Amino acid sequence: MSSTILRDAIRGRVLEPGDIDYDEARTVWNGMIDRRPRYIVQCLDADDVAEAVRFAANEHLDISVRCGGHGIVGHAVAHDGLMIDLQPMGAVTVDPAGRRARVQGGALLGELDRAAQRFGLATTAGNVSHTGVGGLTLGGGMGWLARQYGLACDNVVSFEVVVASGERLRADADSHPELFWALRGGGGNFGVVTEFEFALHPQPGHVVVVELQYPLAEAGPPMRLWRDLSRSAPREATYTATIGGATVNLGFVWVGEPGEGSALAAIFDDALTAVGSPERRSVEPMSYLQLQSREDEVKGHAWRRYWKGHYFNELSDQLIDTLLARDADGLPDVSLQAYGGAIADAADGESAFSRRDAAFEFVAASRWRDPTDDELRMNAARAYAATMDGFASGAYVNVLGDDGEHGLRRAYPEAKLARLTEVKTTYDPENVFHLNQNIRPAAS
Ligand SMILES: Cc1cc2nc3c(=O)[nH]c(=O)nc-3n(C[C@H](O)[C@H](O)[C@H](O)COP(=O)(O)OP(=O)(O)OC[C@H]3O[C@@H](n4cnc5c(N)ncnc54)[C@H](O)[C@@H]3O)c2cc1C
Repeated sequence: MSSTILRDAIRGRVLEPGDIDYDEARTVWNGMIDRRPRYIVQCLDADDVAEAVRFAANEHLDISVRCGGHGIVGHAVAHDGLMIDLQPMGAVTVDPAGRRARVQGGALLGELDRAAQRFGLATTAGNVSHTGVGGLTLGGGMGWLARQYGLACDNVVSFEVVVASGERLRADADSHPELFWALRGGGGNFGVVTEFEFALHPQPGHVVVVELQYPLAEAGPPMRLWRDLSRSAPREATYTATIGGATVNLGFVWVGEPGEGSALAAIFDDALTAVGSPERRSVEPMSYLQLQSREDEVKGHAWRRYWKGHYFNELSDQLIDTLLARDADGLPDVSLQAYGGAIADAADGESAFSRRDAAFEFVAASRWRDPTDDELRMNAARAYAATMDGFASGAYVNVLGDDGEHGLRRAYPEAKLARLTEVKTTYDPENVFHLNQNIRPAAS
């Protein structure tokens, strides 16, 4: 009976256990997630979303929201609840004259990048093209253009949102300004975003990726120098380091005039080589769209995954030593990506996103296939990341695990959490949207 009411109300498909495509629709990026929603509502438009929200409220069902399905904890899939699947809402429309993109709530980053680059435009998006615009932007949205244009959330001009009551609202600087503030960094707590409007920037899309590779045991001196150079890097350059097995890669990603990028690469190479001989060097020119899908395969679906993240306000010598103090076996891969530039220009109070003073984001990431390795791999990642706890200045909400209150306090300072709680209490007093890094409404 209930299912007939739902099917009658929705233009898109409603999937239940046993239906064709049900298993595919409940599968998300992290292979550890195996949850079975009672209903999967594949929404075609904002009205479908509103109907699904109202139905779930009437039936007292947990609601989850799925865009790209890349949330590491799998909040997108409500076990025995109703999953709002936004994947059919993946369209991106660009207004080249107005330099705006209208992006439906289920779009993937690749679609946004391709649509904008067709007109020589771009906005900040993450590093893997099959990630969802939805989850990424609502939590902040770090990418190779962020030091030039700010985070993805800093570039949102307006949101179309279905809130807990099923009402459709537009949130921008003038209309529902507190909701607008909270949606830029506060995650999926406040409603279902059915459309994002982004500001776009002229961006010819020339990229140079620079990497020098060192053996772990010899990486200390070059890594300290890499850190020193990062402090005065131009905004076109985002400094990166990766540690995998017994190898350390130090470099930067340049998005800008290619001649200047190559010149900087030569200076970088000379400087680092003076303190240690790299075992491999690469200076790779490519297009922006190539850059944006370069990691698609290695960060592909179906693997079992576990992450731990930190923000660091500075990379002290002691921290670098701690990062490098590892044997090669069974440990997570590490990535460091520089913040600063336009990310730090925005005043902290401008949006819910916090920790704008971070110098680097650290992620320790493990992937494996065999479920019997789960505990081993997760414990190894936790233990390694824990050696860095004392250096951390917080964490990025989009890489938090199931850390509850503690995780929220790492992502937001107290005053931000208090303001987020007020917005949550206004727009979702019953905590209808709780499958996320949950900010609970004040008790009534
Ligand atoms: C391979 C990979 C690469 C990544 N690279 C980057 C990166 O370069 N930069 C970066 O900042 N982050 C990066 N991340 C982290 C990423 O931002 C988060 O995993 C994010 O949650 C992914 O969003 P999604 O829409 O794909 O995920 P989903 O699992 O679909 O969504 C995650 C949560 O976001 C909320 N949500 C999603 N869409 C909506 C919507 N339209 N309305 C309301 N709520 C919504 C829901 O609460 C949902 O549970 C990466 C993650 C992965 C797995």
